[in-house]
Amino acid sequence: MLDDDKPCGVTAIGRCGTCRQAFCLTHQAHELNGWGHPGLCAPCLARGRREAEERAATERAARQDAYRLLRAEAAEQTPLLMAQLLATGLPGAVRRHRTEEGTPYFLKPQRRFRTVRVKPDALPPGNMAWMLPDLDTAGHPLVPTRMETGLTHDGQLVMMSGGSAKICTSAENEITLYELLRRALAGPDEH
Ligand SMILES: [Zn+2]
Ligand SMILES: [Zn+2]
Repeated sequence: MLDDDKPCGVTAIGRCGTCRQAFCLTHQAHELNGWGHPGLCAPCLARGRREAEERAATERAARQDAYRLLRAEAAEQTPLLMAQLLATGLPGAVRRHRTEEGTPYFLKPQRRFRTVRVKPDALPPGNMAWMLPDLDTAGHPLVPTRMETGLTHDGQLVMMSGGSAKICTSAENEITLYELLRRALAGPDEH
């Protein structure tokens, strides 16, 4: 095996299937658990790992670029699409309901909840994240929770059911909204 292009001089125990060079025990490719590759030298293993890391970094950068572009596109297009969709009068709007605790019925004590009609809503665009009490920790702290979300005639995003909450200001929500608006404008046949 070559060390800076000079043979290390130690008796070879195998030959690398990649670079065809003979390697000694020291120059054999070893995994972290000590297992030695029968037909791979240490430099080739190191090069392979380096190349895999470079490929992964390139792919990561490409994904980040695509995400940045999508975010910029969403920021630019969302207000326009929102205005376009509101201008349609939201023909697909469905009624939004909220369940509230009501007076127990005398003869039907199990019926403790009644449904209260709130107001018309958009065809629910889809799921977006809202800051809601974490049920696992008795309501604290508020955690992002995906809820069915709709658009009202005055351009507000609202949860389709449930009380009031704050919608998350996240890049994910921005992109979700953009994609939902595009889909809503494309019509029910194009999903
Ligand atoms: Zn090799
Ligand atoms: Zn060697």
